[in-house]
Formats: sequence, C-alpha cells, structure tokens
Amino acid sequence: MSGAVLVVGSANADLVAEVPRRPGAGETLLGGDLRLLPGGKGANQAVAAARCGAATVMLGCVGRDANGAFLRERLIAAGVEVSGLAEVDRPTGAALILVTPDGENSIVVAPGANAEAGPELLERGAAALADARILVLSLEIPAETAFAFAAAAARSGTRTVFNAAPARSIPAEVLRSCDPLIVNEHEACAALGEPETEVTDFEALARRLLAAGARSVVITLGAEGAVVAEGTGGGDPVVARIAAHRVRAVDTTGAGDAFVGAVACELARGAELDEAVRFATAVSAMVVQRLGAQSSVPERAETEAYLA
Ligand code: ADP
Repeated sequence: MSGAVLVVGSANADLVAEVPRRPGAGETLLGGDLRLLPGGKGANQAVAAARCGAATVMLGCVGRDANGAFLRERLIAAGVEVSGLAEVDRPTGAALILVTPDGENSIVVAPGANAEAGPELLERGAAALADARILVLSLEIPAETAFAFAAAAARSGTRTVFNAAPARSIPAEVLRSCDPLIVNEHEACAALGEPETEVTDFEALARRLLAAGARSVVITLGAEGAVVAEGTGGGDPVVARIAAHRVRAVDTTGAGDAFVGAVACELARGAELDEAVRFATAVSAMVVQRLGAQSSVPERAETEAYLA
C-alpha cells in the first residue's frame, strides 16, 4: 500500500431522488427514480487525485454491505489503491439527497462506517504515510482522526493538504501543519472559530488564516475562483486571486472535492501551489459542466488538452 497521495477520509453512497417539493412532517411524497452515486469527500478527492495522474491510496471505512462493495469498486475503477479501506460492522456511510425543481438539495448524511474511522487508523496507515508525498484530510470522519494524522504527517515531514469541511473550528497546532488549508468562505470563518459574517475581503480572510498558523491557504469561491495565500517566513505573505473559468455550470456537486484532489496531485508532482491551483481550477471547471461528483472528473490528458 503506497502512493504519492494518501487520502484519509469518508466514503458515502449518495442516494438521490428528484421530488416536486420538500416533504412536510408526516407526509409521503412520490419522487423520481432513485439514483445511487459514489460520493463522500474522501472518496471523491481520491478519485480526482488518481484521475489527474497521481498514484493514490485511500484509507477509511465502509460497511460489509452492497454500498461498501460499490464504493470500493468505483475507487478501484479510478485506479485508487483500496487495501486500506476497512470493512466495519456499521452500514456504509450514506447521503440521502432530495433534489427539488429549483435545483436546491436537501441532504441528510448518515455517517455510519465513517464514524468508525478512529485514530487507530494511524497504525494501519503508518507505512502509507511514510511513503506519501502528500496527505489529504477532510472532516467527514472523526475530527480527532484527521488531527492525529496531521500531527503524524508533521512529524514525518509529509506535506498535508487539509480540507476543513464540513465547517468547524481548527486548533492552532493543526493549522500549523496545513500546507495548504483549503476552505470555502463559510469553512474559513468556522476554522478561525468565528461566527459567520458577510465576508467581502477574501484576501484579508486568507491573511488571517495565515496569521492563525496555516502555512498556506486556498479559499475557494465557486464561480469567483480562489484566493491563494502563502507565508514567506517573516516577510509579507504572497496573496493572489486565481479566476474560475467562465463555463455553464450544470451540477457543482463535487467541484470542491475534485479541486482538492487535483491540488494534491499537482503538489505531489512537484508543482508550486499557485500552479497546482490553476490546474485544479481547470479540472473543477470541467466537473461543474457534467452531472455527478466522481464520474465527472476528467482524465489528466483531457485537462491538459483543455488548458492547451
Ligand atoms: P465548495 O463546493 O467546496 O464550496 P467551490 O464551490 O468554491 O467549492 O468550488 C471549488 C472550485 O470549483 C472553485 O474554486 C472553482 O475553481 C470551481 N467552480 C465552482 N463553481 C464553478 C462555476 N460555476 N464555474 C466555474 N468554476 C467553478
């Protein structure tokens, strides 16, 4: 079990149904045909890193059930090494997604097996961590697991890409191993432990995350692109805005996860952070033009052709 990119995170079965409106209390509604799609931040990020060309290992937990087998098969099909994906006695994580005609989603996440991904995963992942150039963490598994991996990566000198999502506050000692911390604007405020306010100056927000300890920061801003900020060891930080591509978005599900996986792949290949974000911006521009999360991530050759 070894690869340039090690992803420690969640795998979820996304169960999607279109409904005419959100059901009320006690109400039964008829919806469209159920769609079963592979998802979960960790699995989506691993698939994206592999499609972008990185040898990728995924560590996490699924149940001993059909959804677990399905998620494992989708990861394998994308070229992800899954021997670190444990089977546990809880149902595979699932997201129940209702899509209304206005395009809004209502989502219930049932973490199931993902909640069993405890810090003891570190023992199973020690060799993979030692081999990896980049560790990717997100927070649909217990936060103490992600924090323990971040600490272990800091000790072994492995660079950590930390996607602090879903939103929560991040301890300063964990921030210090984030290189980069990748967050959207809501997660950025939460990471700082601040109530959400109307943010207008994202460059200033990125500087504050650097001041709070992060080694580098990427704030993703949907169709507005991303802000990249890097500390310079005492001097003024370098802060830049990288514009998104102008495309017609049909489904933004998984754009953030594909972005994280693509950044990890490029850093593992030796790119500078701003170059990695430019590449990831192109990958996620293609993702938003297609339906699905994992299935919409392009192969590397396609991204390179698109950028040429
Ligand atoms: P999240 O889903 O985590 O909030 P974002 O919505 O910020 O993530 O999307 C991540 C990246 O995907 C953005 O930085 C951007 O490059 C790309 N992206 C997202 N939405 C669009 C869009 N409508 N058009 C073009 N690119 C997009």
